This record gives sequence, C-alpha cells and structure tokens, in this order.
Amino acid sequence: MQAKAEFLRALASLFYPPACAVCSANLQAGEYLCAGCNAKLTRIIPPFCAKCSEPFTAAISDAFTCANCAHRRLYFNAAVAVYRSRGIVRQILLDFKYGRQVHLRHLIAAWLVAGLNDERLRNATFDIVVPVPLHPARERERGFNQSALIAELLSAHAALPVRPVLERTRYTMTQTAFDRAERMQNLRGAFRLRKTGDVRGLRVLLVDDVLTTGSTLSACARVLKTAGARSVHAATAARA
Ligand SMILES: [Zn+2]
Ligand SMILES: [Zn+2]
Repeated sequence: MQAKAEFLRALASLFYPPACAVCSANLQAGEYLCAGCNAKLTRIIPPFCAKCSEPFTAAISDAFTCANCAHRRLYFNAAVAVYRSRGIVRQILLDFKYGRQVHLRHLIAAWLVAGLNDERLRNATFDIVVPVPLHPARERERGFNQSALIAELLSAHAALPVRPVLERTRYTMTQTAFDRAERMQNLRGAFRLRKTGDVRGLRVLLVDDVLTTGSTLSACARVLKTAGARSVHAATAARA
C-alpha cells in the first residue's frame, strides 16, 4: 500500500509540477510548502525550557524551573521541538500519521533537519539515530512507524546510521486523554532494548514526530541510558 502510493506519487511528479502540501500552489522542485503557508508555521523560539522545549511566557522567562519538568526526572539530556503543533503543523502531522499521507515525511524530516541547528543539538555529537518504536500491533494497523520514516531521512541528511534498537512491549492506551502523571504511569515498562541492540558508550539522537509532555522520550532515554548510552538527545518536529 505504501509502496504503491509512493509509486503513484513518483509517477504523478513526472506529469505535474510539485504543489504545496497545504494549498496546492505551484512550487519549485525540492519545496514542500509555499512561502505563504510556510509563514503561518509557529516556530518555537526562546524563551523556552532548555530541557523539554516548553515555551515560557515572557513574564516568567527568568524562572529556572519549568512546570512541565518540575517534580520529575526526564532521562534525556535535552529534547528539541521545532514548531508548535498548531494549525498547519498539526494538520500535516495528523495527515501523515493517521491519513496515510506518507509523502509528508519529507516535509516533516525537513523540519527536523532545521531542529539540528538548535544549539542543544548543534553542539552535541551523535553516533546513532534511534526512532521511537511503535508496538508491532499498532505498526501493522497504521502500516508504518512514522518516527522510523522520518528518522531514515534525518539519518541520510546527517550521515548517521539509524539503529532501531528499541522495541515497544506494551500496547499502551493512547496517551491523549492522560495528564502528565498518568502518561508516565502508562509508559512504565513499555519500552525495552532489543536483544540485538547494543548502545554502550554511544551518543544517541532519539527521533519522534511530536513531543507532548516528554514522557515517551524520557521512557526511551531511560532504557537507553540504563543500557549504557553515553548521552540521549531527542529531536521532534513539533511540540503540543
Ligand atoms: Zn501553500
Ligand atoms: Zn521543561
């Protein structure tokens, strides 16, 4: 199904010029959004939490504590999110993940590549890229793992190998209805290192499409660090 959609798209691109993923305006080759739609995206800019990228209102920008990080341990070194998951960004992520518009991975991966420029990632070195895994049953249901698709494109851009060393062992309920504490509880023991995975001494770049509270990324980082990873940074396209 995925291969067929890819094929049809490749075929279509022979006859039609590239079009904006949102408004269908004509584009140059290699572009995914027109300038008008691109201008509507909300980039996450300082001030934000250095750990979890939660944007701060200017009024509390001098505070050292982030409400999202308070009273819990997040196991990643830092998690970068490039855009707010609102409007066009949110719609594109939903179309990609639930609408089977697999071609949108190119646009979303381009956002992640922009995230590599964040100083928290720019100043770090990575040995491997690790996608956040889906439970096998959910992956079958969806047809693909969205994080794996964008991790592959990111790895090609950054010349880093992708190593899907994590697996999801529990078919957890969807996180959306849960608050922060419930999310962490829901994820307890949900991930583990694959038997063939060895991350000892490695600096990991963890990849996911969306960061909500950071609980999923933290649960993955915890497994990786327990298995001996030297550092775990996370890159996501958008923050809820
Ligand atoms: Zn457009
Ligand atoms: Zn935070």
